[in-house]
Amino acid sequence: MTSNAVTTLFISDLHLEASKPEIGEQFLNFLEGEATQADGLYILGDLFESWVGDDDPNPHYTVMKGAIRELVDSGVPVFFMHGNRDFMIGEDFAKETGVTLLGDPEAIEMHGAKVLLSHGDALCIDDVQYQQVRLMTRNPEWQAMMRAKPLDERMAFAEKAREQSREYNDSVGEDIMDVNQDAVVGTFRTRDVDILLHGHTHRPAVHEVDLKDRTATRIVLGDWYEQGSVVRWDENGPRLEAMPR
Ligand code: MN
Repeated sequence: MTSNAVTTLFISDLHLEASKPEIGEQFLNFLEGEATQADGLYILGDLFESWVGDDDPNPHYTVMKGAIRELVDSGVPVFFMHGNRDFMIGEDFAKETGVTLLGDPEAIEMHGAKVLLSHGDALCIDDVQYQQVRLMTRNPEWQAMMRAKPLDERMAFAEKAREQSREYNDSVGEDIMDVNQDAVVGTFRTRDVDILLHGHTHRPAVHEVDLKDRTATRIVLGDWYEQGSVVRWDENGPRLEAMPR
């Protein structure tokens, strides 16, 4: 490995919130340290625990936005994909921070490999009830209706949604909250990619996926609750690594 190897970084599922300052602190250290040497940073959703709109004056989020802006201004491109927590992030956030908003999924090429990036929740099709909620909340009309509501109303809505989500998650089985294998195989086939990289399930792992005619790789980023999780990708390929704190 050459010493000037360019590394691209991928993270997801930090679930930043003011009540968990240790996550924010690690993220700030990451942005001010390793990320400044990177070729680019991809954030694949659920950076924030909740997002009621780009006009939210939440001071914790303001600090995080400022740190992302500094990284972008230093010359490192930052790409952001929505998660199921921060799907309301919009153009104002992108303008403020300088990030490029991505669709889900988004195809990129990394050192010759065809890669599909996704948050991951769209692959969890066994969870039918969640997929219905997803369909509703990703609808531009529904989002426009939400954005038209006063901030305090949106905050109350988000708090209630989080509560319901916690209750729901406790009530359904573990398996239902993981990706569906047929959805994974179907994604590899229709998108014709070598590697699928996503988060959401909080089950960091590298899976070999047998497609009969070839083997593909599914990389799952972990959450940042107890430690950081990152994929570091250089000319030698991707490495899924934990970042203890
Ligand atoms: Mn998620």
